[in-house]
Formats: sequence, structure tokens, C-alpha cells
Amino acid sequence: MTEQAFAKRTNWAGNVTFAAADFQLPSSVEELQTAVRNARLVKPVGARHSFNRSADTDGEQFSTGALNRILKLDTTSQTVTVECGILHGHLSVWLNQRGYALHNLASLPHISVAGACATGTHGSGDSNGNLSTAVQSLDLIRPDGELISLARGQHGFAGAVVGIGALGIVARLTLDVEPAFNVAQTVYERLPFVQVQQHFDKITSSGYSVSMFTDWMGDTVNQLWVKRRMGDVVIGDAVQTMAADQSFFGASAAPAERHPLDGHSAENCTAQLGVGGPWHERLPHFRMDFTPSSGQELQAEYFVARGDALAALESIRALRDSIQPLLYISEIRTVAADDLWLSMCYQRDSVALHFTFKPDMPAVLALLPRIERALAPFHPRPHWGKLFTMDSDEVRAGYPRFAEFDKLRRACDPDDKMSNSFLTTLMRQP
Ligand SMILES: Cc1cc2nc3c(=O)[nH]c(=O)nc-3n(C[C@H](O)[C@H](O)[C@H](O)COP(=O)(O)OP(=O)(O)OC[C@H]3O[C@@H](n4cnc5c(N)ncnc54)[C@H](O)[C@@H]3O)c2cc1C
Repeated sequence: MTEQAFAKRTNWAGNVTFAAADFQLPSSVEELQTAVRNARLVKPVGARHSFNRSADTDGEQFSTGALNRILKLDTTSQTVTVECGILHGHLSVWLNQRGYALHNLASLPHISVAGACATGTHGSGDSNGNLSTAVQSLDLIRPDGELISLARGQHGFAGAVVGIGALGIVARLTLDVEPAFNVAQTVYERLPFVQVQQHFDKITSSGYSVSMFTDWMGDTVNQLWVKRRMGDVVIGDAVQTMAADQSFFGASAAPAERHPLDGHSAENCTAQLGVGGPWHERLPHFRMDFTPSSGQELQAEYFVARGDALAALESIRALRDSIQPLLYISEIRTVAADDLWLSMCYQRDSVALHFTFKPDMPAVLALLPRIERALAPFHPRPHWGKLFTMDSDEVRAGYPRFAEFDKLRRACDPDDKMSNSFLTTLMRQP
């Protein structure tokens, strides 16, 4: 990589310019082990889709982009083993061709499997854990270069999966798969807020994966995206039924495909209108063959307990006049509880309140504390891959196993080789 290209290295949104003094693109796990062993300070970076400095370092930054092989599909144990840098979108196509599926995907498929798991990245669905919950085992390159394996149930595993790059570099992962399934997606418009208040559970359970998009203004949620597994519903009938009454909790079935932002072209979005298709072409909102190299937006997201969802929504609605000028759109999703120590859904069925903001960092950073104060009574856990301003005490207080995670981190990385400004701030003891 040339000096000039290096100088311009940023994350996808362009709000973080990486400070790494050295940048490498290892092509094998062994090469990466040697480089890690010899480095002073180390940090892996995947597809660069995070919005904070968690992938940054003053030392050597290792892109996992060339570690993208699929190593084994085991149809007996129903698992697939991959290298860390493979994108969900590429893995999904490969799995689907062989009759298999992942349980869920994020809103876009252009993120690396290891990067997504390291931050607790999620899709939606009352019964769906985040994407990290599919990890059955992982191979971790410790900061001294040694490769260790951790499997579900073993000591440290639950701490290592959502590891925000603090323990080492995850070189390979083995993920649970299941038989491929089809999904049909229907978008409804103008869902009355009063229906959300009265029927929240019925609405979020009305499909395998359900998202509400809102700008918080007016009396309606702008759009409701319902992704139904075929088999749960006979798609043709469902569309006809919905088309017949045109109403779903007071919302109307959209007559044409929609983008989450009202008025934007839906050409980059996955197929809608109840037309069934493969899981990986419906579970994300955005298509794999649409590959923006950068995005003019910033994101933040907070997880609260499902039982606090309605009160949390009201707290945000009360701030809407302050939020609206900076906001493109918010998305409300549900995620099932898990047992991964640093997962935002650790032992808490959760509702995730997401904000896609205009790319104005100072204004967004000035607004986030107000959102965080409004959500404080509900003990919000911020997304590890997005922006937040909560201080480390507040963040750590949301994680009952945080001290154990820190102990595990110190055991793996006694010399703080994986440390960076993001982790130093987070790990600072009171
Ligand atoms: C347009 C857009 C849409 C998004 N949609 C969603 C969504 O629907 N749901 C959601 O939850 N999030 C979403 N995100 C956030 C995104 O999923 C996370 O930021 C995710 O971490 C990005 O993966 P990445 O491969 O780009 O990781 P990076 O941003 O490159 O890295 C993220 C973190 O993981 C660490 N890491 C990377 N690789 C490894 C490795 N091999 N071993 C150990 N640590 C590693 C890095 O050091 C860093 O700390 C979205 C982001 C964008 C830009």
C-alpha cells in the first residue's frame, strides 16, 4: 500500500481516519500469527463498517480482507468453518447453493463475519439471537502469536465471542447452520403509534424478522418491514389476504417496493411485495450486489430490555424535535437474549433503538448525551460498533460479567498489545 493511499484510510462512513502507523493484509493465518507475534501494538480490522475507533491502533493494523476462505461445511454437525474476513454476503450465497442458511443477517451483508461477531451485530426477530450466537467455536491468535481454540461451553468462550478485538485476532470461526429457507418480505406504511403501544408484542412477532422505521414525527411509524419464513405463512395467500384488507394493525401494505427512507429509490433494497425468495436475499434490507464503498451517514444504537420498550420509545419521542433535524431514520428491532458476556443482549430479551444520522459528527456527538440521558432509566447498552458517548462506568455497569471479561482480557493480553484509545477508555477502572 502506498503512503498516499495509506494516508486516506478511513472507516466506511469516513468519520474515522485510522492512525495506524503500519497496515498489513496477511494472506494466511500463519502469516498473521508471525506478524502479530512480532508487532508492538496490534489491531484487526474487517470490512471497516464500524463508526467508532474500536478498530484503530497506533501500531499495526491487520486487515482480514484476504482471509476469506470457506474451510468446511459439516452436514453432520450442521456447522460451517470460515476464515475471519469472509463477508456475510459471500458466505450466504455459498451456503444457500448447498442448501444451508445462517439463522439471521444484519441490515446489509457487506460486513465480515469476525467483525460482526466481535461487536454483537444483529438482525431482528423475537426469537433470533444476534449473529454472534451462531458461533460454535473460534480460533484466536493471542497477542503472543499463539493460536488457541475455544468451543461453546469451554471456559472463556462466552467472553471471547463478542470480544471487540480486545483478546486477540479471531482467525477462524465455526458457525451453526440450518437447512436453507425462503422468506417473503412485506412493507407496510404509516403504522399508528397507538397500535405500537397497544400491540407491540403482536407486531414484533408477526414475522421471523420485523423492523419498524420511524422519524419519530407525527402519529405513525413510517414503515413496518415484516420478513416471514415461508412455511410459517403461505406467501401467495398471505399477500392476497393482506392485499384484500390492505390493513395491518392500521398500516397499509405498500403498493410498490420501498427504501427505509421515504422517497428514496428502492433499487438497492431486497425484494418486497410478499414475493418469496432465498433467506439471504430477504433478511438483509440491502442487496449484496449494491456495494457502496463509503456512506454519508453516522449510526448509534442502544439496547434496552424488551419490557422497557414502550417507555423507552416514549422517552425518545419526547426528544423528537431535537433529534429530527439530524436524523435520516430510526429503526426499532427485537433481539433474543443470549449468554455472551459482552453481548448487548446478555441475558436480556432486547429492543434495539437505532439512529441513522446525517454525517455531522459534532452535532451528533452533542445530541447523543441527551438520548443517553433519556434512556438512562432503562440501563441502555450501546452497540459496540456504533457511536456512543456514555462514559465507561455507565457502559460497564450494563454488563454483569464485565469484570470477568477484563480478567480474561488481561490473561490473553498481559502486555496490552491489543489496546487502543477505545479500549483504554472502556477498561479504565473507576
Ligand atoms: C450501513 C451499515 C449498516 C449496518 N447495519 C447493522 C445492522 O443491521 N445490525 C448491526 O448490529 N450492526 C450494523 N452495522 C454495524 C456493523 O455491523 C458493525 O460495526 C460490524 O462490526 C461491522 O463489521 P466489520 O467487518 O466492518 O468490522 P470492523 O468495523 O472492521 O471491526 C469492528 C470491530 O471488530 C474487530 N474485529 C474485526 N475483525 C476481527 C477479528 N478477526 N478478530 C477480532 N476482532 C476483530 C475490530 O478490531 C473492531 O473492534 C451497520 C454498519 C453500517 C455501516
